[in-house]
Amino acid sequence: MNANVAGLTARNCETVSRTLSFIAANRFERPTLVVDAEAVAAKYQALARGLGRARIHYAVKANPAAAILERLVQEGSNFDAASRTEIELCLAAGAAASRITFGNTIKRPSDIAFAHSIGITHFAADAREELDKLAAHAPGARICLRLIVEASEADWPLSRKFGCTPEKALKLMDYAAARGLLVEGLSFHVGSQTREPQMWQSTLQQVAQVWRQAHEAGHKLNLLNIGGGFPASYGSDMMPAEDYARAVMTQVGAHFGDVAEIMAEPGRGLVAEAGAIAAEVLLVSRKHDDDLHRWAYLDIGMFSGLAETMGEAIRYRITTDRDHETTGPCILAGPSCDSADVLYERKPYQLPLGLKGGDRVVIHSCGAYTSTYASVGFNGFPPLDVIVI
Ligand SMILES: *Cc1c(COP(=O)(O)O)cnc(C)c1O
Repeated sequence: MNANVAGLTARNCETVSRTLSFIAANRFERPTLVVDAEAVAAKYQALARGLGRARIHYAVKANPAAAILERLVQEGSNFDAASRTEIELCLAAGAAASRITFGNTIKRPSDIAFAHSIGITHFAADAREELDKLAAHAPGARICLRLIVEASEADWPLSRKFGCTPEKALKLMDYAAARGLLVEGLSFHVGSQTREPQMWQSTLQQVAQVWRQAHEAGHKLNLLNIGGGFPASYGSDMMPAEDYARAVMTQVGAHFGDVAEIMAEPGRGLVAEAGAIAAEVLLVSRKHDDDLHRWAYLDIGMFSGLAETMGEAIRYRITTDRDHETTGPCILAGPSCDSADVLYERKPYQLPLGLKGGDRVVIHSCGAYTSTYASVGFNGFPPLDVIVI
């Protein structure tokens, strides 16, 4: 284990060490994500303790590796899927249809029909046209209307693309009911990687107001879906998952009282810290001889798993076998022939001056949103390899 890892808290260290030992003991032909299923299970249990009566529906898109889904089935998790393929992955892992929700607000009609045919009853929507599709292909479906939330403080906000305004949601409740759909409740997403529980406050306030207005309008809502947003540690110390979840639920209780049913859809918070990527430096160069900055090109980039470096939003912790050596500023880029494939340039990384082609780098907390974001073969680079241990 290298010096940087020793700097982490004992708690984080425990959860990453199996992954790091596995990486240290093996050579890989190409960039490889190693995920520790034990760490995922431990995180699931921590979140479950903190979330109390809220049901967990794992957001499958974060990492759909079969071994992870199977482990989560064993732990008692439910699942939130976004397409027929994700639903089929959950079924193949042993999840019953009753434990799967279809939470994407943008669904293909044939996917809705498929979900309905196998017994999935819970769907999300934020538009009339989507409700029409649901009424046609999943008659009698249970619906959560997704609200758009303002002023997300998340590192990876999801706010603008999804949801509708409170006024619109209230209209859609009538529209859905008139089409024989069961409006069960409201959903929202506070924004991915919402670092502090207090950042939920204003969102919960906005949603609670709509909840009250819905009741006043005669809609008996009984399901609150608080979505994802549970953060992972990317190097800095974070509140333990259980405490974070408990702090969120305390606020939910204050705003919503005794709602009949609550569900949460963690993705990143459940799997990110359980994985690390073993990658390699392909080239280190300077644009001119006295350039202060070096460019280090890795064998993994924006199109092969590290899409969340876009806008330098997620800053992964990166370690090398030379971390005891003197460091200097380094721009990091991927291997593809696309100039957008630069990972970190505005805020360069401090990396060892001796870094060179062939050196291994380990990219930490990579269990979420990496394998699913890898392209199928841009420039002939293969998708990210995944090993679940
Ligand atoms: C992606 C997604 C999630 C998971 O979000 P995280 O921030 O990774 O926890 C949850 N719910 C929905 C509807 C999503 O699209």
